[in-house]
Amino acid sequence: MRIGVLALQGAFAAHCECLSSIGVEPVEIRTPAQLETVDALLMPGGESSTMSQLLESSGLFDAITERLASGMPTFGTCAGMILLASEVLDGRSDQRNFSAIDISVRRNAFGRQVDSFESSISTPIGEFHGVFIRAPRIERVGTAVEVIGSLGDEPVLVRQGNVLAASFHPELTSDARLHEYFVSTMSNTRKV
Ligand code: GLN
Repeated sequence: MRIGVLALQGAFAAHCECLSSIGVEPVEIRTPAQLETVDALLMPGGESSTMSQLLESSGLFDAITERLASGMPTFGTCAGMILLASEVLDGRSDQRNFSAIDISVRRNAFGRQVDSFESSISTPIGEFHGVFIRAPRIERVGTAVEVIGSLGDEPVLVRQGNVLAASFHPELTSDARLHEYFVSTMSNTRKV
């Protein structure tokens, strides 16, 4: 499986390092033509409103929408999760999202930059060290969505079909187990 990393803005280099550390060669994605060459996509943290603008100007917004509709395995972290959500609260008025996972997320709801924090997250695949940076809070989870990881009572790692989303940044720790989980559990449903 060839894995792309959306490389318009944000922490994409860290995702690439995580993939390399588990023996997967990352492909940086900046154009629709590059997207065509991959089977799955990682969307990094960063600034979702800026990413939304760059997705539109690059032509990637429509290209990714099509691929998501045909089941492309996709993993979004933080801003990437905001982009994948079905509802974005406190977004910029011109900000767009893919509605690929049935969750409502509120931007910056865990506080401003100074309020960023780290905490332990329990999941069925182990404990993770969660890095939260101006993180979105998941305020609603649809019935088709599986909560995989929580911080106390709050969902922070969710999955619907081939779409996985985290409100924290697994790519900013040297722990690549979530990348491994993504690579090993998502089925490639690409129609050739
Ligand atoms: N607050 C950012 C946004 O709204 C997300 C922060 C992050 O990705 N670390 O896009």
